[in-house]
Parts: sequence; structure tokens; C-alpha cells
Amino acid sequence: MRIEQYKDMIYACGRCEFCRGFDYNDRCPEIFTQHWESSTARGRMAIARAILEGNLEYSEDLAERIFGCFMCGRCREECKKAAQIDVIEITKAMRQDFVEQGVQIPEAGANMAATVTSSGNIFADPPKEHNRWAKELEFKEGSGTLFYPGCLASHRFKEKTNILVRLLQAAGYRLDFLGDDQKCCGTPYWVTGKMENAKEYAEAYLKKLQSRRVKEIITPCPSCFRAFDEEYPHLLGMEKLPIRIRHTSEVLLEIIDQKKLNFKYPVNKKITYHDPCEIGRYRDIYDPPRAILNSIPGIEFTEMSRNREHAFCCGGGGGCKIMFPDYSQRVADERIRDFVETEAELLTTICPACEMNLTHGFYEADLDTRVLDIAEIMAVSAGLVDSEILESDYFPED
Ligand code: SF4
Ligand code: SF4
Repeated sequence: MRIEQYKDMIYACGRCEFCRGFDYNDRCPEIFTQHWESSTARGRMAIARAILEGNLEYSEDLAERIFGCFMCGRCREECKKAAQIDVIEITKAMRQDFVEQGVQIPEAGANMAATVTSSGNIFADPPKEHNRWAKELEFKEGSGTLFYPGCLASHRFKEKTNILVRLLQAAGYRLDFLGDDQKCCGTPYWVTGKMENAKEYAEAYLKKLQSRRVKEIITPCPSCFRAFDEEYPHLLGMEKLPIRIRHTSEVLLEIIDQKKLNFKYPVNKKITYHDPCEIGRYRDIYDPPRAILNSIPGIEFTEMSRNREHAFCCGGGGGCKIMFPDYSQRVADERIRDFVETEAELLTTICPACEMNLTHGFYEADLDTRVLDIAEIMAVSAGLVDSEILESDYFPED
């Protein structure tokens, strides 16, 4: 069993309650939605221990507990003060045990990985539709700097992705793009425990990138960023890929710091920022997005009550958006309540999955406002895009 390698950590859980929070509701989105002790990190450690001792078996009844984790890392952050248990890696190992023991996993999770295998993206889009955002943009094949949007930014946010690329190009980045050759980064495999093809997938993709002479990847998606920066090296037994991987949070700050564009148009709005789990808690990228927003003229920046390492998940993580859409929506609704408290006019973030789930939260709350990527705010201030995109009644065609 995969969890055996984490035996020491599993037994180190002292049931201190830091991970679930003392009111049960403000930390872990899984217990927020499911309300069972077994839906918390410490509950999962008890389940893992019972499985290791032969007192419990993986079964379909357990699937909702193990696959209903948003992998937001809030518990892991709290456990740093207690037993330093890597709950995320243990959850991934449990999901892998499910698959390897042939126990039924949530159908939508199994389908998601199968869709990537058959179509190359999580939406089963034909390439022409998937890459429609790139229409009328020019790329420099072989430039060495690959723009890698990932499935969500390609399929769901065509206008935002188009604006981001225009901003990067205006700042002087010579971007390559794989076009019809672009495939999913592979994250659906490891979040659903389907690791059997993951190594071959990563190997083949790295080969493709190297044959294109890619030296650097720039991606707006935290999952793609971590896939190339963490999962690929892990799967391929390397310390690092021979390619530099950068999330847009770093590149956009570089544009500001190196004055690659002139941000002369004020954005006179009260704005707050949602920390995506996979760049925040996973990678400690908290300051760059805030530094960018604070450098744009006119912005009144305000924080949500739960921010940085204490930020509440958007509800889009761990594959839950697809496997448990109702839970995912409830978490988004809760995060939108944090936004409303701030009385801000706009919500920004820097992750397509967060943008999608929080936008769904706005629809549900029937609020007249928008979730904007930080790149869109920069593009308005640099005069590359009309400021109408900041208005609540603006509705992009995609
Ligand atoms: S914070 Fe860590 S040690 Fe404490 S109950 Fe949670 S998993 Fe166990
Ligand atoms: S990763 Fe997030 S959702 Fe999963 S158990 Fe930890 S706090 Fe809860």
C-alpha cells in the first residue's frame, strides 16, 4: 500500500485539532461541506492508521472522505505547528491505493483522467476550439519561452488569456505556443490517483518540450506550474527539469520592477485579492500579487479577513469541482462572503481555477461584480485594454 511510506507521519498525529479549526468551519473546506470528523485531516489520519492496522479496508463508502478533500493545504499549514504531517501527500497516496486496489472512485474523477488520455484536455475540446483564444495573436516558434495556458485558461477564459498574452508581448516577451500540440499538464492523473500512466506521460511531454527547444515555461495556472516544477521532476527522478518554470505572478512582478510598461492610467477601484492555494500555501507566493496591485495607480487595496496562509479555499481544488460540484459551489459561496465583508468593488486573483469557481460564487450570490486576473488590471492601467472590463455589467464573449 502506498500509505505505508507515510507510516511515521500517520502515527504522529496527536489529534490536536489545529487542522480542522476549533469552530469546525473556518479552516478546512472538507469538513465545512461534509460535517464529519472523518472529513478532516485528523480524521483521515485515523482512517489511514486503521487501514495500516488491518481494521479498515478501502471501500466505496470511504471515497467521499478521501476524494472530497480540496487539497487546499490549510491543514498542512496548521500541522506545521504540531506534527508536520504532509496531509496532501498522504491523501494522494490514499487515492492511489483506491485505484490500485480496484475500488470504485467517484465516476467524474475517473472520467476526467480518461478524457485527458483520449482528447489531450479535460474538456474534450477539439484543438481549434481549445485554442480560439490565440486567434490573431502571433507567436515566435522556437523562441525558447513557451506560453503554456493549461486547460482552464484555454477553454474557459479565452478573453483573459488573450489579454494576458498581449500584456506579456507588449512588455517584450517573445513567446512560443504549442498550438494544436498543446496537451494537459497531467494534473488530473495525480489528483485522482491514476498514476499508472503518469510517468510515461511526463516523459513524452518533456521530450516534446525539449524537441521544441523550450528553455522556459510561463504559465498562468498554478496547477500547471507545480506540475512542471514539482510533479514532473518527482516522476522522472530528477531534481529539477532542465527548463525554467515560472508562474505569471513572478513574471508580472518583473514587468513592474523592471518598468517594462508604463502604468499611467489609474484604476480607481477598491480591490481585494484571493490567494490561490497552489501558489500561496504550496509555494509561499503571497507578496508578488500584492506588490503588483499596490503599484498600480488609483487602486485602494484591501485584504479579506482570511488571507495569505489563512486564506479559505475557492472550492476548485483537488478535483472536487468535477467530482463534487455541490460541495465546490458551497465553498465558493463561503469565500464570496469573505469578499462581501470587505466592501471591495472587484475581486482579483491569479489562477484560472479560482477565477472560475469564484465567478460561479458571484453568479450564485447574484452580485454585480467581476473576478479579474491581475494581468487584466495591469492591461487596463497600461492602456492595452479598455477599462470597460472593470465594470460589473461587462460580460466577455467566452
Ligand atoms: S494538526 Fe496535524 S497533528 Fe494536529 S490533529 Fe491535525 S493532522 Fe493531527
Ligand atoms: S487539504 Fe484542505 S480540504 Fe483537505 S483536509 Fe486539509 S484543510 Fe481540509
